[in-house]
Amino acid sequence: MKKISNGIMKLYEYEECICYRASCGCTHPKHDLSITIEQNEELSDVINIIFYTDVIVQESYISHKDSITRIISDWFGNIKFRIKKALEILFKGYTGMSAEFILDEEENIKDFINALNEGLANIKNNKNKKR
Ligand SMILES: [Zn+2]
Repeated sequence: MKKISNGIMKLYEYEECICYRASCGCTHPKHDLSITIEQNEELSDVINIIFYTDVIVQESYISHKDSITRIISDWFGNIKFRIKKALEILFKGYTGMSAEFILDEEENIKDFINALNEGLANIKNNKNKKR
């Protein structure tokens, strides 16, 4: 199997769990994605893949900063949006947000896929050793 290198690194590997970190193509460190592949503890035929990243509240109200009135209006617009999202989490237990992750070159995409395949193969291999 090809060595993984383009923006993806293996963080750690245990018998039933392997974790990678993938770097976003824009290089912003807050966009990094942690990928954990693990054997489901209760269902032996199930493999869990967990993606973790910081979700940054979209600055929905950015406009041209051409006047102090507009800057203040944008600031209050952002605060209103953040409060709305916080209230949704508080009262509903969830909110909808998206996080962008860029794989900007073919090699990055291939290495991302290779990381998932390697993790899956290692988890399956470790599971078969236990039998
Ligand atoms: Zn990014």
